[in-house]
Amino acid sequence: MADTKRDFWQTPAVEILRSRPGQSISDLDRNSTPGFTGDKSDGGRLLEERGADLSLLQEKLYANGRSGDKRSILLILQGMDTAGKGGMVRHVIGHVDPGGVDHASFGVPTPEEKRHHYLWRINKAFPRAGQLGVFDRSHYEDVLVVRVHDLVPEKVWSARYDEINQFEKELVDNGTTVVKVAMFVSMDEQRRRLQERLNRPDKHWKYNPADVTERKLWPAYQAAYQAVLDKTSTDYAPWYVIPSDRKWYSRIAVTELLIAAFEELDLHWPTADFDVETEKRRLAES
Ligand code: AMP
Ligand code: MG
Repeated sequence: MADTKRDFWQTPAVEILRSRPGQSISDLDRNSTPGFTGDKSDGGRLLEERGADLSLLQEKLYANGRSGDKRSILLILQGMDTAGKGGMVRHVIGHVDPGGVDHASFGVPTPEEKRHHYLWRINKAFPRAGQLGVFDRSHYEDVLVVRVHDLVPEKVWSARYDEINQFEKELVDNGTTVVKVAMFVSMDEQRRRLQERLNRPDKHWKYNPADVTERKLWPAYQAAYQAVLDKTSTDYAPWYVIPSDRKWYSRIAVTELLIAAFEELDLHWPTADFDVETEKRRLAES
């Protein structure tokens, strides 16, 4: 494993970024780089090194999955528009074999999804054994956008926090490690990123006029995110709070969170279920 992380991470990401009871996101400096002593170029180099480590760990999980191990890892990404969820998938998850990744993104529910319970589409997208699952948005939208826009009565959404905790408990009990990442950009940085999307024709496809409508509801969203952290950060599925104004930082931070989750699984290469020496002989004779 690479040495660089020890040089730059003063406090491990899993410790310093874990959501703390009573932590207020209004106090969070979204431009900060908690625990990390290096700069952007250090971060860029580290991402490559640790991405390679992540790739090897993912291959081990996949190999074990092929040998009957039922475990999996699920990364849940939440954040306002422009927080960098898509970039996280491209630049962090992009280091691993796409065949080992079960990716799902959750937008406005389709007519079919609307006919079902809000957890129906989530349940269908869970990672298979041995896979690294990635959710770009998730069931948390059902207590974020849904709460902010009163898409269901308060009585309905307010019951969802406990329901989500129970739902995740079952997921964890069934062998999935859940890594929940809340990415926070500042309002100024969001304006810059939206501005860039408008200024560059190659980024127009990412711009959605509705993003500005959502931006006007910033305080309501912040309150909804605060409630998510307060009510759904559990021992078995804690939230990690990621300052995300610096993309290079959020990416190395999440890389470390994922590596820590893989290392918890204590993975080894599966032993052969055939006699290696016999097979070497058979191959030589063939
Ligand atoms: P994007 O991630 O930019 O593709 O946008 C997806 C959009 O779908 C966001 O505006 C989300 O707020 C919205 N969305 C996701 N889940 C839900 C939901 N359960 N109900 C309503 N809107 C949702
Ligand atoms: Mg968008």
